[in-house]
Amino acid sequence: MNPIIHILGYLFHYANRDIPLIAKQEFYELKQKLLKKYGTKVGQDIQHIKKDCYSCDATGWFSNEWKEEPCWNCMGTGVYEEFWTKLDKYKLGKFTFHNPVERIYKHSKSFSEEIKPNIEGYISHKRPKYRVGTECAWWLFLFFDRKTFLKRFGKTGYPSHKRTPLVFLGNLIFRIRCFRWRDLFPKKVSQNSYSDLYYTDEELPF
Ligand SMILES: [Zn+2]
Repeated sequence: MNPIIHILGYLFHYANRDIPLIAKQEFYELKQKLLKKYGTKVGQDIQHIKKDCYSCDATGWFSNEWKEEPCWNCMGTGVYEEFWTKLDKYKLGKFTFHNPVERIYKHSKSFSEEIKPNIEGYISHKRPKYRVGTECAWWLFLFFDRKTFLKRFGKTGYPSHKRTPLVFLGNLIFRIRCFRWRDLFPKKVSQNSYSDLYYTDEELPF
């Protein structure tokens, strides 16, 4: 197997689990681009997302001491949002990834009762140890999306687990950027200091 594809598979596998929040959108765009270029499409999945309405505890009814009426937030359905996402499934190296293609709502043209989801709810990923995922994401940006790398790298800090090179370096740059260098030097006192212009209580003209 092409070693680049193999390495890319690993990088995305980890990066996908700890995407830098500061470049989330850019990460998904890069993932989409690289999967199309280096991955092999192996099929399609359909994911079903249904979010319950919090206002009425998914009952569809709002009630208090005086009255009971259909919940205004969900129009009495108990469902805050529901949609189906068509996902292209790709194989990249050892791993499988999904690229969203279309989001379908009940009122969408492409909706039909035949939609049979095979993924229910969001897929949750366990974050790898020591920010390894974030590290992999920065390497991907460095090699394949230099513009985002230069724009976002070092713009956020990591409070803990800085054990990998780019996470460490990014944190360092962030700290240096935030450091108030001016505080290191004695403050210049201006000759006509503003305090000269202040009135004391007794001198107040009114
Ligand atoms: Zn509701």
